[in-house]
Amino acid sequence: MNPTSPENLRQATEKVFSVYSDLEKLGISRDCILRNRCCRFRLTGKKPMLTLGEAIVLARGLREAGRSQIPPSQDGDCPFLDQRKGLCTLYAHRPFGCRSHFCNEAGGTYKRSDIVDLIRRLEAIDADLGGDTPHEITSATQTALSLLKTKR
Ligand code: SF4
Repeated sequence: MNPTSPENLRQATEKVFSVYSDLEKLGISRDCILRNRCCRFRLTGKKPMLTLGEAIVLARGLREAGRSQIPPSQDGDCPFLDQRKGLCTLYAHRPFGCRSHFCNEAGGTYKRSDIVDLIRRLEAIDADLGGDTPHEITSATQTALSLLKTKR
């Protein structure tokens, strides 16, 4: 069976959104006021690493926004950051790392023990899709876009 069949990609999308929903339900308090420093990779020296399921969700968000390609990155920032507004253009589809706030000003990364079960669920979805390991946000999204294009 093809792990990236359209049906598997659809199911993976639902499962990833379910993980994101359960993360919200944990109700871990953070002081994120959309400073967007975490989206400025050259400042932080860090980039979100995405499992294939997360990348599929992000790529779907990009397509729903009417784009078929990843916008060019400016100044080493995340390509999905709206430079003028300073906001994420794919906020509803943003990956787990962006939701678990690795930004120190907002309170730092969630304790692993609080979210390890959710991470394992993302890893299980990745394995079901034949993913190997998390990849940085741009290359992961490019792979996902290719899969969605060929599987439509
Ligand atoms: S996906 Fe959105 S929230 Fe995450 S780093 Fe990029 S712009 Fe920021």
